[in-house]
Amino acid sequence: MYDVTHWIAGRPEEGTGATQPILDPATGDQVGTLHLGDAATVDRAVEIGRAAQRDWAQVSLSKRTQILYRMRQLMLENVEEIARAITREHGKTIGDAKGEIARGLETLEFATSITQDLKGGFSENVSTGVDAHTMRQPLGVVAGITPFNFPAMVPFWMHPVAIATGNAFILKPSERDPSASNIVARLYQEAGLPDGVFQVVHGGKETVDALCEHPGISAVSFVGSTPIAQHVHRVASAAGKRVQALGGANNHAVVMPDANIEFAAGQIASGAFGSAGERCMAVPVAVTVGDAHEPFLAAIRAEAEKIVVGPGEDPSTDMPPVITKDARDRVIRMTDEAEQAGGTIVVDGRGLVVEGHENGNFVGPTVITDLDRGHSTYTDEVFGPLLVVMHVNNFDEALELVNSSPFGNGTAIFTASGHYARRYQEEVQVGMIGINVPIPTPVGYYSFGGWKDSLFGEHHAHGPEAVSFYTRQKAITTRWPHQDEHLESSMSFPTHD
Ligand code: NAD
Repeated sequence: MYDVTHWIAGRPEEGTGATQPILDPATGDQVGTLHLGDAATVDRAVEIGRAAQRDWAQVSLSKRTQILYRMRQLMLENVEEIARAITREHGKTIGDAKGEIARGLETLEFATSITQDLKGGFSENVSTGVDAHTMRQPLGVVAGITPFNFPAMVPFWMHPVAIATGNAFILKPSERDPSASNIVARLYQEAGLPDGVFQVVHGGKETVDALCEHPGISAVSFVGSTPIAQHVHRVASAAGKRVQALGGANNHAVVMPDANIEFAAGQIASGAFGSAGERCMAVPVAVTVGDAHEPFLAAIRAEAEKIVVGPGEDPSTDMPPVITKDARDRVIRMTDEAEQAGGTIVVDGRGLVVEGHENGNFVGPTVITDLDRGHSTYTDEVFGPLLVVMHVNNFDEALELVNSSPFGNGTAIFTASGHYARRYQEEVQVGMIGINVPIPTPVGYYSFGGWKDSLFGEHHAHGPEAVSFYTRQKAITTRWPHQDEHLESSMSFPTHD
């Protein structure tokens, strides 16, 4: 049993809030205790952050970059400790935890080139003897509020760029798997980041609302479910902050009749059941077109049936438990409801028991077809290892089905046809698209974001859009007349002669 406290001013702090247990999803046992924040904890972190940020913004770009390089090295040296903490609290396999750390580090690597990304523009003689230039400055103290499913990667989408651009960052990670964030805080300190530039305040709604309303915070980055994304976007925007709020998803993968069906089924199985379907870029819906349907069902059944379900720390495990008992019960209830509505259960994950882990949150891979397009098991975000296979007659019907979803995070098309692939990328109303790639999560030097109910705000996460999100531009126009020069003033607007 261990305690997870806040990390404020470079030290662990218990704060004055309540506590709640941290549970191991593979056993159901309590493994630790989390100290929850409140308005007073947020106040203190903001005050410390403001003082730290004033000095940090004056630190040279070269010094900032050196700290980020050291941080990258420390992350690599401590990957085992962080991955084990993620597996203990989230449940995912060690390999998957290391994968998310590697994907998070892409953004840190991107941030080490901040010397390039903060370059402004300069134009000489925009008018005779007049020059113009631009520069980008940090916002101040900014906050990140993150979900349980990527306790390392999603915060890393935010803090390396926020810090590199001269801001102080307050992270409010998910209360379900909080430990990774405290390890990251400790490593930033070891890397030489001044105390107060990166802080962690834990908690739930009370802490989130305090961050969204606090006048000392200039911007909020949120990643989580759509209803909370809408709440954060509304409350933080009303408080005058810049907000990016990434929400939920219901990603569709279209399988065309000309696709390599075995390949598509393998890729879609990994998208649907990897990390027990708890990825915002998971593939909970396959759309089979025409003759693809029957061979795809046979191939996906074979893929699902060979998946080994077990605890994340067991090297033979393919698919781990889901995060909570409620999450497991939701998958079982959605399967029951689909069956009652006439759906065919192709692979049934209900009733799975993992020997020695009878109290763990396990549910097996599930595949359902023959569902009506209005049924909630198809339309709602399941966030578990449940794949719905919808069948349509042709490409246009597939496109119409995908575009009818209120979500627009990710999507994929499996095809051998460049014509249909090109039409798909052009006409689909989704932010991130894979062509024969099931989980098209952009690399760290591009930006990540969905459309429609999957993102509220103007900016996508990480990459170049993050530089723009965490900075404000100034445009400066300069004239240096000689002291003897006589300049005529005019009441007319200048014509730039
Ligand atoms: P969640 O919305 O329940 O929680 C996200 C954050 O909001 C957490 O830090 C949590 O403490 C806080 N929170 C929860 N309830 C709150 C409330 N009532 N008021 C204020 N704050 C609250 O999401 P989750 O269950 O942790 O994560 C899963 C969800 O996140 C899924 O919907 C998934 O699609 C989404 N997600 C989206 C992306 C993306 O990039 N679009 C990435 C990862 C996860």
